[in-house]
Amino acid sequence: MAVTRVFSSPPVAGRPDTTLRQGAAGPIVEELQRKLGLAVDGKFGPATLEAVRRFQEANGLSSDGAVGAATWAKLALTSPPPASNPDQPPAASEPRPTNNTTRPPAPPPRPDTFTVPREPPASREGISADLLAEFDAYRGIATDDERIRALPRSVQLNVLEEVERHPANPDAARVVAYLARERGFALLPEKTANTLVNLLGGTNEVSRHARAQFDRLSSRQEFIKATDAEQARQIQQFFADPKSLPDITSDPPILPGRPDVPRITGPRDVPAHGFQGGAAPAREYLVEVGQTTTPVFVTTQAVQAGLFQHSLQEIAKGLGATPLETRKAIRQITIEPKTSRLDDHWHKTYGEAFKGSYMEVTFAGDVFVFPTKERRAKDEIQKALVHEVGHIQSGQLLGQNYDSAEWRRWDAAIASDGVAVSQYARTSKTEDFSETVTAFYAARGTPKERELRALMPARYALLRHHGVLS
Ligand SMILES: [Zn+2]
Repeated sequence: MAVTRVFSSPPVAGRPDTTLRQGAAGPIVEELQRKLGLAVDGKFGPATLEAVRRFQEANGLSSDGAVGAATWAKLALTSPPPASNPDQPPAASEPRPTNNTTRPPAPPPRPDTFTVPREPPASREGISADLLAEFDAYRGIATDDERIRALPRSVQLNVLEEVERHPANPDAARVVAYLARERGFALLPEKTANTLVNLLGGTNEVSRHARAQFDRLSSRQEFIKATDAEQARQIQQFFADPKSLPDITSDPPILPGRPDVPRITGPRDVPAHGFQGGAAPAREYLVEVGQTTTPVFVTTQAVQAGLFQHSLQEIAKGLGATPLETRKAIRQITIEPKTSRLDDHWHKTYGEAFKGSYMEVTFAGDVFVFPTKERRAKDEIQKALVHEVGHIQSGQLLGQNYDSAEWRRWDAAIASDGVAVSQYARTSKTEDFSETVTAFYAARGTPKERELRALMPARYALLRHHGVLS
């Protein structure tokens, strides 16, 4: 559920190190706007300035409208002061977003939608005669219907392939075959037509949901009686309607594959670790999983009464189940004893529905895990980590400036692919990145991977290029 995810996993808390002023733009401004409860457009304009001034006034700061360290400290409180944290390298030595000059230029997003290898028709073994008879009827439509035969060749082949994949699921075959023979479908651009066929023919959550939505649309009188052009318009509107997509990343809740068994060593006493509430004693453990070793800082204080917090073992287990790419982007994890200091702000922004922050991250690779009012499922940590670390990855790989060439390529990829993996992904390009990465990791090595590649070839190419998908 998209809404739950928004609340259970508030947006990335960046580690800003420069003063933000009117005229600034980018993810950091977006972050600022979220914290202020403003409409998020990533541009520091007059409305943002006004809100900053009001916030500063209300918090006893000089209301100059410039967001420097003191204002960020009130707003974010995610950056422990380096002096209080002698065990950690100072902020200045943190990895910065990769410079363009150190990497080869990214290839342009692929122009064609259909880039994945075709699959042979699925086996009919073990499928009931009833289902096969129904399937064959739809297959007959896909092969012989006059309207489908008049479609561009790439679309015809795609329709036939999607139908042939589903002898055990005539419903998918039916929706694809019927979509392809709608009068309005023939008027769609070839690329849109192919993406729609891929979308409706998939076995993943997005596809299942989209099929139900398309059934609803195509059985309405307004659609059935519409002119060809009007049908085409309604189909395109359906395609662009964010309401037609669920949150793919919620299914399944656990990433596929056998989790690695983590090895925990330590503890080492740290007299003053940078918790969000300030420097405090901690025990540092090292969690070794495969090729990575992650420092995890555990508070020596009791967790706030009435709240639930993950144990070190749960965190380690969660790490063991995350992909190598995710673990590599984490510098350290802090298990916080108290709720996030941003929660008051989120409560004001989201009201009753806000259940408390679960995790926050910095672009330097720090992950903060907060105790929550409701007990978290042990497995929930996996995907939450992957999503949150997606913000670290995008900040480091694409930069923190939305106008960068790298982020513009991501924009172009979103536009080129035309679909999103979840509702939440549509809230901003950083969320789109995190949700997409999570979806791809969750699908890796399963039949859904091929579907996602077909649905989002441009994003897939960029993720490969940046090494986020290996
Ligand atoms: Zn997020």
